[in-house]
Amino acid sequence: MVVVIGGGSAGLGVAWDLLLRQIPVTVVESGPMGRGTSGRFHGLLHSGARYAVVDPVSAEQCRAENARLRHIAPSAIEAVEGYFVSVDEVGESYAQEWLKGAAAANIPVEEVSRDRVLEHLPGLTPDVRQSFRVHDAVLEGFKLLEMLTTNIRSRGGTVLQEASVTAVHTVNGRVSGVVVRADGEDRVIPCDAVINAGGPWAFQVAQLFQDHLDMQLSSGLMMIYANRMVPHVVNRLAPPGDGDIFVPHGNTVILGTTEVPQNTADPVEPTRREAQYLQSLGAQLFPEIVRWRVLRAFTGVRPLFQGSSLAPHSRVSRDFTVVDHGATVGFQGAFSIVGGKWTTFRLMAERTGDAVAAYLRVHVPSTTADVVLTPPETQKRQHTGALVCECETVGVGDLEPRLSEPLADWRTRTWWAMGPCQGTVCAHRGIALRIPHDGVLAALQDLREFRAERERGMRPVAWGDNARQWALNHAVTGQTLAEGAVRKIGD
Ligand SMILES: Cc1cc2nc3c(=O)[nH]c(=O)nc-3n(C[C@H](O)[C@H](O)[C@H](O)COP(=O)(O)OP(=O)(O)OC[C@H]3O[C@@H](n4cnc5c(N)ncnc54)[C@H](O)[C@@H]3O)c2cc1C
Repeated sequence: MVVVIGGGSAGLGVAWDLLLRQIPVTVVESGPMGRGTSGRFHGLLHSGARYAVVDPVSAEQCRAENARLRHIAPSAIEAVEGYFVSVDEVGESYAQEWLKGAAAANIPVEEVSRDRVLEHLPGLTPDVRQSFRVHDAVLEGFKLLEMLTTNIRSRGGTVLQEASVTAVHTVNGRVSGVVVRADGEDRVIPCDAVINAGGPWAFQVAQLFQDHLDMQLSSGLMMIYANRMVPHVVNRLAPPGDGDIFVPHGNTVILGTTEVPQNTADPVEPTRREAQYLQSLGAQLFPEIVRWRVLRAFTGVRPLFQGSSLAPHSRVSRDFTVVDHGATVGFQGAFSIVGGKWTTFRLMAERTGDAVAAYLRVHVPSTTADVVLTPPETQKRQHTGALVCECETVGVGDLEPRLSEPLADWRTRTWWAMGPCQGTVCAHRGIALRIPHDGVLAALQDLREFRAERERGMRPVAWGDNARQWALNHAVTGQTLAEGAVRKIGD
């Protein structure tokens, strides 16, 4: 038995890899699905072109994995194609170097005329000088996390949520079990190996193996705009920098991102200043952005890796590293997988699986590049019963059959309360459905936390239409969640 700590893309990916090698696995995730960076990213399935100059290893990995993910998880990928556009002299002079890098990494690039790109991308600045089409696509992160979870479970693996690994036991220097805390209680899960897939928290998890991982954490801000104002992925053709990518996502478009060093693994609250800065950069590509309706801002933390006690320190890249803590500090059977991208999660899982399988003397190769993941039934929306959420057309039939799910999973699976009104009324309607299952007090607490979470993302970008929506949300929340009302029900 192998225990994987962390149920983000890396953790679920490696669990899937090991199960296909007939190695039993339990994933322990301390939050709901997508608590970490895998639920707080830009949604881009990289073609590799972004890294063509600055990070050729990642460029090559992204190119190969882009094609593999389209094969194994087609329902979680939207093949929208992407454009790189230069809008100034910096971009134009960078283009030659970039084209060479793309060719070296075998990344297909096709030049597109100015007229054609303006036709394909309404609203793009007329200052566009050159444009190139690449195989960028949209990666629907929550869908793929759910798909991995259900496939792992259907093959006999276990995925625990809201449960944390707090200690790792050894016998004669070899991993023998982990302590898992859930609902305030500890229990031991015996195992032969343990994998740290803790993302930005990986350095804390490595302390359970008495090792030190040298991580370089940085926060990235993203902003979500209502309506699919940009139908394809659009990258600014220039050395990678802030605010240079637009990714369409469902009925929205996401602008990102920034890179601000930070010391903690928890995502920070977005600030108005940073949001205004990001939007001003986005306006260089789409000047009308100032009139688009912004919905919310959110941040994610990059878990980039510099080195461990004995593993060589490398320059910080988007590449990933598998650390064998048996080799670094003599903690046999403990491994960490750090760095990387969502786009390369399968490759990261394969390499980690190779190391763990070798330790367990299991001689079965990885098959994750070939085995197509089955989409869960729940991803087919029912649209039955009364409408609960008008913005995202979510009906009672989409929500009621899975009342036992954590609220966060319920939301990210159906997209309920994620549209332009950010749950002004439908948050109440949806949570009311949970009362027969959870009871009034738990439902009220859910509503309170839900409102606070929506508020965190809306407030920093409360301008224009969003300011009006935020004020309405605020008023509705004030009316329905007044402290007195809660106390009265609790009495
Ligand atoms: C702003 C931003 C934008 C990005 N955009 C893109 C993009 O467009 N395309 C792309 O390919 N990549 C992108 N990335 C990178 C990508 O999102 C990450 O590399 C990837 O999601 C990391 O996944 P992970 O599984 O390593 O970490 P996470 O998703 O953070 O998972 C780690 C999990 O470990 C859990 N955990 C921690 N400690 C414990 C414990 N003790 N017990 C149990 N569980 C624990 C946490 O709850 C967490 O869920 C972006 C990253 C950022 C920050």
